[in-house]
Amino acid sequence: MKVTVNTPNKTYDIIIDKLPQITIDSKVAIITNPKVSGLHINYLTNKLKAKELHIITLPDGEEYKNWQSIEYALDRLFDAKFDRNSTLIAFGGGVIGDMTGFAASIFLRGIKFIQIPTTLLAMVDSSVGGKTGINNKYGKNLIGSFYQPEAVYIDTHFLSTLDKREFAAGMAEIIKMAVMFDKEFFENIKKGNLTLEEMIKRSVELKAEVVNQDEKEKGIRSVLNYGHTFGHVIENLTNYKTYLHGEAVAIGMIMANELSRELGLLSEKEAKEIKELLEKHNLPTDFKIDDVDDFYNHFFLDKKTADNKIKFIIPEKIGQYKIVKDLDENLVKKVLKKFE
Ligand code: NAD
Ligand code: ZN
Repeated sequence: MKVTVNTPNKTYDIIIDKLPQITIDSKVAIITNPKVSGLHINYLTNKLKAKELHIITLPDGEEYKNWQSIEYALDRLFDAKFDRNSTLIAFGGGVIGDMTGFAASIFLRGIKFIQIPTTLLAMVDSSVGGKTGINNKYGKNLIGSFYQPEAVYIDTHFLSTLDKREFAAGMAEIIKMAVMFDKEFFENIKKGNLTLEEMIKRSVELKAEVVNQDEKEKGIRSVLNYGHTFGHVIENLTNYKTYLHGEAVAIGMIMANELSRELGLLSEKEAKEIKELLEKHNLPTDFKIDDVDDFYNHFFLDKKTADNKIKFIIPEKIGQYKIVKDLDENLVKKVLKKFE
């Protein structure tokens, strides 16, 4: 299965299949972490032929998605005399993918890179669309670039070793895509009609369509933030410790649905269907808000809250999104109070 991404400056394929034999006629560095490398590096290197192969191992974890890791990776590339023709391979979850893409975008002003995502979240979300970056003390993903890979290879073989919670977190992003754009997809997930590959493909296809229209998030790309405006606040309030990103997004989707209900849009029946599907996939849907005012104020810490206007992406019904802004503070707080 294949999905083609068409951005103004680059066209490339996302291949969802057993990893093929890959031959690259240049120096190649696989950027990975100890966990992924320990589990799967042989599977990859057995399929890879390069002029010269290097493996750069960065520490595992969101807290290492920083300048120091980038500097370390770039130094290794200079040590090995990489040049403009060299290629990087991102081999890991979203953390490795975002850092490898960023390193590729700045090394000698940009070299090629390939994504081989190994988490479900990276397969359906972070490896698609060309956002790269790192965190710093001012916040998450504040430094980075839009930089598209040469190709993305999605092989579900890697998911056999993925933690159950991490898997569920990826499912949240898949369900998000279905609720926003595709009722039939939603129904098929619900009925268990689709293989994992088929779910990944549809999700990637939907994301690619959005990215093709708006690579740099000047408009429509923001609809991918369903569940995220609330989810980011939840991640923030819990210091990124209690929930995985996808779990916080699942709760955020429930909150966005409540907002939609309050606006008289989403039906009770569909809100319930979404909740049930999330729960069926082992995602949390409950959260206790301690302080509604504090929760509300956190919306304004989000870098996407431009000019102090909160923008919510909500489902009007399953398969159809709506963007709402300039909402009355009291109305939003009324929704938040339901979670008190
Ligand atoms: P992650 O990269 O931290 O991976 C989660 C954990 O799973 C890690 O410990 C990792 O080592 C481990 N792991 C990876 N593959 C494995 C495998 N096959 N078997 C067992 N363990 C494995 O987290 P993630 O959820 O993949 O990605 C989150 C990151 O992605 C965040 O930094 C987020 O900002 C970023 N992101 C980027 C975009 C984008 O558009 N660029 C979109 C969404 C998220
Ligand atoms: Zn997300």
